[in-house]
Amino acid sequence: MAATILKGKPVAEKIREDLAQKAAELAKKVGRPPGLAAILVGEDPASQVYVSMKHKACQEAGFHSELIQLEESIPQEELLKKIRELNRQTTVDGILVQLPLPKHLNEEVVLEAVAPEKDVDGFHPQNQGKLLLGLEGFVPATPKGVMRMLSEAGVALKGKHAVVVGRSNIVGKPLALLLLREDATVTICHSKTKKLEEITRQADVLVAAVGKAGLITEKHVKDGAVVIDVGTTREKGRLRGDVDFDSVVKIASLLTPVPGGVGPMTIALLLENTFWAYQKRNGLQAGTNENSIRQG
Ligand code: NAP
Repeated sequence: MAATILKGKPVAEKIREDLAQKAAELAKKVGRPPGLAAILVGEDPASQVYVSMKHKACQEAGFHSELIQLEESIPQEELLKKIRELNRQTTVDGILVQLPLPKHLNEEVVLEAVAPEKDVDGFHPQNQGKLLLGLEGFVPATPKGVMRMLSEAGVALKGKHAVVVGRSNIVGKPLALLLLREDATVTICHSKTKKLEEITRQADVLVAAVGKAGLITEKHVKDGAVVIDVGTTREKGRLRGDVDFDSVVKIASLLTPVPGGVGPMTIALLLENTFWAYQKRNGLQAGTNENSIRQG
């Protein structure tokens, strides 16, 4: 039987509507709405698209949104100065620096300059460390979005074998930790993994976060597996996922499409992280941000 298509768009829209409503209510109390500042260095076309989508989503939710566009050649010290200014700015609760950065800028130094309490992307070492330890902090939006999609679809993870293909600090590794926290047995694969298909075929839940269009085909997937496609590659103006949709849809039980799958969730959860930062900074009750150790 063909897989059920797991779309992120409706879930993401609901999250954004709820946030807009809550933000409007709290803005009356606090005297200002939640605020996000997005920094874009240079003119990479894909980055321009992503940043403007985030900016627009913020505006639609009634958030204060600043889009800071900086010259490709900006010296690192000047970029750091701008980040420090935003760290102090009271109307800004969240700061994101769109990646990748031009080669002359040190990504680690730049990400570490963002105040951890405004690090809504969850890329600061302090928030990454908290995620590892199961302490409260910011969880990167894409892995958080994958987890929310799985829970909305009612996918039970306890005792299941989850295989994550990709080990980046912003998707693969945090996602593996979140799956582990839900008591899945987790395997991480990467570019040096041998016999990839033998491992992925064991997965009850398979997540591809690589960036190689069509890498995962039917030979990589067990009958009835849940398959989440995080990858996005632009090919001839079309966005393609890591999963060969046409072959995998025949054997998976649930499959996310590209576009319209994980992508919309990333933006919604970035807004949710910003809202969480706003609540925390204003001493309002803010929930756990899904980043505390679960009791088994
Ligand atoms: P990344 O930093 O380039 O990491 C890619 C990972 O894939 C690396 O760990 C790499 O292994 C692994 N890999 C490369 N070739 C492989 C192969 N043949 N077999 C198995 N593993 C392989 O990318 P990323 O930032 O994690 O992003 C991954 C993908 O997700 C990209 O397509 C990106 O555009 C997409 N993405 C989508 C969203 C969204 O909102 N939908 C958000 C973020 C990212 P090594 O570590 O050994 O090099």
